[in-house]
Amino acid sequence: MTIAGKLWQRGRDLFPIAGFHVDRPLVLLQSDDWGRVGLRDANGLEQLRSSGLALGERPYDFYTLETAEDVRSLSTTLKGHRDSGGRSPCMEMNFIVANLDFARMSVDGFRKVHLLPVAEGFPMGWTRPGLVEAYREGIEDGVFQPALHGTTHFCRSAVERNASGEGERASALRILWEAGTPYIHWRMPWIGYEYWDPESPEDERFLAADAQAEMIEQTIGAFAKLFASLPRSACAPGYRANDDTHRVWAQHGIHVAQNGPGVLIPPHFDRHNVLHLFRTVEFEPATDPAFSVEACLRQAESCFERQIPAIVSLHSINFHSTVRDFRSRTLEALDEFLTALESKHTNLMYLHDEDLHELVDTGRHKMPYGSIPVKVIRRNFTKSRVARRQDA
Ligand SMILES: [Zn+2]
Repeated sequence: MTIAGKLWQRGRDLFPIAGFHVDRPLVLLQSDDWGRVGLRDANGLEQLRSSGLALGERPYDFYTLETAEDVRSLSTTLKGHRDSGGRSPCMEMNFIVANLDFARMSVDGFRKVHLLPVAEGFPMGWTRPGLVEAYREGIEDGVFQPALHGTTHFCRSAVERNASGEGERASALRILWEAGTPYIHWRMPWIGYEYWDPESPEDERFLAADAQAEMIEQTIGAFAKLFASLPRSACAPGYRANDDTHRVWAQHGIHVAQNGPGVLIPPHFDRHNVLHLFRTVEFEPATDPAFSVEACLRQAESCFERQIPAIVSLHSINFHSTVRDFRSRTLEALDEFLTALESKHTNLMYLHDEDLHELVDTGRHKMPYGSIPVKVIRRNFTKSRVARRQDA
């Protein structure tokens, strides 16, 4: 970024923005990485270990892919809960809509990326009977809302640049790809995120606007094939999105942008008329050694005190079960968390991203028996002065 650009951005952070506040407890669930394959279950684990990879250092070494049963168990847990208006929580599920086509990639020596849309199945060596149907059932039942994450999660140009070279990085990719695993991010952060190349100069890391536009268009096409609908909300892989990303999203009818945790910012619109939401509760039992239901409840309460929604972040790994059973503990904790919120707040409301968009836009919320007015308060804030989340 140029000096003028940096000054402009700093100036913008000092400029007051209209934030939306609601005087009743709102809870949203946002979850990333659905549809994205990782370790190819027990076989993949064995194959990678025999190639000399010491897996097990971090939870993401055991990231696999959800099964139909994982998805149905989550759906059952959500259906067991109701808010004050009788609605179950509906999880915003952000999908990666394609995986690597390892069969095609092996033909040209694993030097190029080829993609296989989830709508056409999972890559060679993977079996997930009924998984896509399980996603669709949950959507039909109103407990999942599909949204856009991306096509590859990693930056394609960064991966192809490294795969076509010689040396350690190319061979690390080849070992994983031969075992049907696309990548393990913490072991190779140089793969970046879909719209963000970490090896470019600091102010050029985001891909050019036209490159992003082409990718987003393809991703939306693959999403439409998978769900026969268009996404209304999106979360960029690694939360790496810039103004170009938001503009293209808006052009395609996406009117909610999900942002990562760390700051307590009220929902607000950007100049493209996209509503920005920030995650305010980190519910990640699989990856957070300090996780506790009590801490998550405290985080939610501090949102309610500020009259902002509790936006709960839960990544898909928390529901995986094939190599490590992350699912059992997560569902038990989630059940406890939702039960505690429901019993303490008799006016609690579960919303998904589009509900919240409609609420701030119209001041009304749809309930099973009709729509009700909800008081929305506009209060200015400046980005330079927002509260950091209290990790109590
Ligand atoms: Zn992700």
